[in-house]
Amino acid sequence: MISRFIGLACAIFLVLFIGGQPLQAAAFSTVVIDPGHGAHDFGANRGAFFEKHVALDISRRLERFLRKNGVRTVMTRSTDRFIPLGTRAEIGNRQGRSIFVSVHVNDATRSAAAGLETFYHTSEGQKLAALVQREMLRNASHGGNRGVKYARFKVLRASSRPAILVEAGFASNAGDQRRLRDPRYREALAQSIGVGVLKYRG
Ligand SMILES: [Zn+2]
Repeated sequence: MISRFIGLACAIFLVLFIGGQPLQAAAFSTVVIDPGHGAHDFGANRGAFFEKHVALDISRRLERFLRKNGVRTVMTRSTDRFIPLGTRAEIGNRQGRSIFVSVHVNDATRSAAAGLETFYHTSEGQKLAALVQREMLRNASHGGNRGVKYARFKVLRASSRPAILVEAGFASNAGDQRRLRDPRYREALAQSIGVGVLKYRG
């Protein structure tokens, strides 16, 4: 009887302390949204398609979605202006209990390259990246899954918070670009990123 009680006490202890830890680590109150590029820095560009505009549009939609769900947001830029990578990370680092989500569009010399990928630099970033990638694939993917990947991108390295960089398809791929030109697809992508973020919070 006593040993059963001790066993139960141990189980409760494990649930409270080990089970409680990841929730603690994922707790955040602010999402810093970072639309890639801006102004003279076009990012990927094909004809009238500019990564900087698409990244800002998806980011604004993500901002709306998160605010609607009661999450405080900070945008590193909300207009077409240039911000150095280090400054973007600093804006995020100034926000206590925040996570950092950078939004980009991919580019490749090989036009067949297509699909979604999400990058991280730390293990917390990896957890967030996996959730966001899964939601994007569930709701907004036709171009395929390029996976969740480690990267030493400056904006991720310089961030002291859980940080990810989403590549929302390829400007250089006809199918991806056609989808990214559709506002309904950009909305679906933004909401998928948002759902991934909400799931990370637990
Ligand atoms: Zn980019």
